[in-house]
Amino acid sequence: MKTENFSKRIQNEFKKAAARSNIAAALIAKLLTYDRSLEFDVLFKKSDGSAQTVKGYRVQHNNILGPYKGGLRYHPDVSMDEMKALSFLMTLKNAVIGVPFGGGKGGMAIDPKTLNEQELEELTRSFTRQLASYIGPEKDIPAPDVNTNSKIMAWIVDEYGKITGKQTSTVVTGKPIELGGSEGRLEATGYGGTYALLAILKLLKKKPENFTVAIQGFGNVGQYAAELLQQNGFKIVAISDSKGGIYVPEGISDIRALMKYKAEKGNLFDKRITGREIALEAILTLPVDIIIPAALEDVIHGSNARDIRADIILEMANSPMTHEADKILAGKGVMIIPDILANAGGVAVSYFEWHQNTRNEQWTKEEVFSKLKKKMELAANDVYQIHREKKVPLREAAYMLALERIQAKWLKK
Ligand code: NAD
Repeated sequence: MKTENFSKRIQNEFKKAAARSNIAAALIAKLLTYDRSLEFDVLFKKSDGSAQTVKGYRVQHNNILGPYKGGLRYHPDVSMDEMKALSFLMTLKNAVIGVPFGGGKGGMAIDPKTLNEQELEELTRSFTRQLASYIGPEKDIPAPDVNTNSKIMAWIVDEYGKITGKQTSTVVTGKPIELGGSEGRLEATGYGGTYALLAILKLLKKKPENFTVAIQGFGNVGQYAAELLQQNGFKIVAISDSKGGIYVPEGISDIRALMKYKAEKGNLFDKRITGREIALEAILTLPVDIIIPAALEDVIHGSNARDIRADIILEMANSPMTHEADKILAGKGVMIIPDILANAGGVAVSYFEWHQNTRNEQWTKEEVFSKLKKKMELAANDVYQIHREKKVPLREAAYMLALERIQAKWLKK
């Protein structure tokens, strides 16, 4: 993950897109600021009776479109710079996918794998106590991100209720179903990226059967993307996770079986799969048509971008390439489907969850997937039109679309 100048890079991308759009100078200036950047110490009790302090963050970038919305990340590299960059991306992503939310992001600089469950709960509850007066169903709505999940969201709901006296689960999304979570949230980001890719291939008049795919990362996003891509006829030939990768040139026959194997054994090295093991970095430079970074930031950089052989990159991870890599790949004519479109399925279903909670509804999985598909197709089509009309890369087109939508709302305020 990034440690330096991540937020500057997003601001620079934004300025480039803003310069090509007809956007008011006052709005550009506003979007280059952050409404609120919170940094605080989170003290919690360890099982051995000692106390530990970690740095906690919540950045509320902008709420022109609606309440701040964005995930909570627990990772040792979490920093104010990263939170700022990711909250800015959330503002843009929410605009691209057309949900009435602004941008936020938060988290703590800690490796949760070093804690037992009780300590993780203590930590999360202490974090919630610090944040309680800044979040709420109409104010700021956190969600899971890297290393956080529905169980952590449930602890936040409970602690928020105790502090504020408001028993509302709408304060977060990504909750367990029995607490008001939405069907389909688990699959949302991976499926959403697949729907966006299918929509773009349709515009290019290309068929999924003709594409081989390599996926980096086999967690929540990578697994469900792989599952739906395979169901739609793509040939998945390589997958990696933090323990290593597998390459099967004739195609991995059963993604669901591999998901089950990974859940049971914690790695991808299923002996029933005939293929070869590959080194971690090798996944990105295999001879495939599409690569899908679905793990970490900055994995495509100046040193490996020239070796990439794929024609399409679907950015399921947030910000998986450096600016230098972006330029190199553009020069090679690689089509990059940018993160703020490709991984927007997660926040789309988070919005569906919030919508169901506020109206006391419970949609079926089929309803959720059908609405998600429509939203992803609409956004992909809108971004693609700008890309064609203005002759700009898809990333810049996505930023331009976001800016237009934010300005339209800003002018009405
Ligand atoms: P996750 O923790 O469930 O999975 C991450 C995966 O990446 C794991 O399989 C891990 O083994 C793998 N990984 C870690 N280091 C690796 C390496 N060096 N090489 C290959 N694989 C490696 O996380 P996730 O929820 O799937 O998120 C993945 C990415 O998608 C993150 O960048 C996240 O910000 C982004 N994202 C997630 C969501 C969501 O809804 N989960 C939404 C938007 C964006």
